[in-house]
Amino acid sequence: MAKQLKIVIVGCGIVGATIAYELSQNISSDIQVLDQQPPAQGSTGAALGVLMGAISVRVKGRTWKLREASIRRHKTLLAELSEQGYSIPHTSGIVSLCFDEDKLPRWTALKEKREKQGWPLEIWHPAELKKRCPQITLDSPEAETPTETRRVKAAIYSSSDGQVDPVALTNALVTAAKVRDVRFHWNAEVTQLEIERQRCVAVQTTQARLEADWVILTAGLGSAALTQFASEPLALIPVLGQAAEIQLPKTLGLKDFQPVINGDDIQFVPLGEGRYWLGATVEFPSEDEALEAQADGIESLLKGAERFCSAIAQAKIIKTWSGLRPRPVGQPAPVIKPLGDTENVTLATGHYRNGVLLAPATALAVCELLQKSDRFTFSP
Ligand SMILES: Cc1cc2nc3c(=O)[nH]c(=O)nc-3n(C[C@H](O)[C@H](O)[C@H](O)COP(=O)(O)OP(=O)(O)OC[C@H]3O[C@@H](n4cnc5c(N)ncnc54)[C@H](O)[C@@H]3O)c2cc1C
Repeated sequence: MAKQLKIVIVGCGIVGATIAYELSQNISSDIQVLDQQPPAQGSTGAALGVLMGAISVRVKGRTWKLREASIRRHKTLLAELSEQGYSIPHTSGIVSLCFDEDKLPRWTALKEKREKQGWPLEIWHPAELKKRCPQITLDSPEAETPTETRRVKAAIYSSSDGQVDPVALTNALVTAAKVRDVRFHWNAEVTQLEIERQRCVAVQTTQARLEADWVILTAGLGSAALTQFASEPLALIPVLGQAAEIQLPKTLGLKDFQPVINGDDIQFVPLGEGRYWLGATVEFPSEDEALEAQADGIESLLKGAERFCSAIAQAKIIKTWSGLRPRPVGQPAPVIKPLGDTENVTLATGHYRNGVLLAPATALAVCELLQKSDRFTFSP
């Protein structure tokens, strides 16, 4: 029997877990995943899991291709995992509110484009929005001049987008990959890649040295430190996101229509029985202030959401949390490519604000890169 090639995946957030699962279905190799913590503790553990595919403004190029491939695969992935017995909380549909009349022509153009691409969108005028989402406050005080009012001018609805619980999805992928013989090592911090003539021959962890034929770096913000030896080291910055879980006296809106609502870049995610996630702030590092969660971040989220859904004024905060998103410097997110001139190290990281959405397309792209190397045998 031919020797199985050893693939080592560094990092088990949503990206590492999805790659491990997809590779285990398509390739006959010895796959190991290393993480310095248990799974889904990094950026993934803080994410809201909103999947903005068809409703995003991108209509062409790499970003749209990745989004489209991802929304396609998210659907089949959930069905596939459900068949295997995993139940993953998710929400169907996203409604995005438009407060600016000048933006309406862009939404109309997007709707036309998406129709041709096979991803229908609906544009609702305020009366239709009120019918479909009675929880939305159509007129609210202006933030800067509270005596004046601001009106929702329209809403755009995508039935093909939605939300998925990122931690539940990651854990399900890990368990499903284990069933396919992928081995996971927790509390295994990778300290170094051992390189010989442009090839990574082993991965050094705090626990052991693992030989490797191929290494995939999916360590989120931790990826950059592991690339400093390379001809083109990776640069990432952390972008803080704060979020909250709130409880309302009852579930808002229509019982059988509970989409994610997006207003002013604040996501309002229904979880059932009056519980919601609200997020997330987007806070960049600065020279004079430490990048830390502050109470005013959550306050501004609540105030912002109250402007389009006044019932949020009655919310009780159940919990708050924050996380750091890995944002690439000098190149667009995400980074999916070989590391510099190394022959067998693939970067699959830097997903910034959309790692949960883009994990399936990332896994697909990594499979393609491995396939191109001609070293692996893929199942037909
Ligand atoms: C508040 C917030 C809200 C968000 N909302 C959304 C959303 O709605 N939709 C969406 O698509 N995205 C969202 N994101 C972004 C998303 O969370 C990230 O893009 C995504 O989680 C990145 O996944 P990852 O697997 O690459 O990284 P991570 O989840 O950070 O995983 C990396 C893993 O690598 C491990 N690691 C790091 N260094 C090492 C090392 N040296 N050795 C071993 N292991 C290591 C870490 O322990 C970690 O488990 C949000 C992010 C935040 C913070």
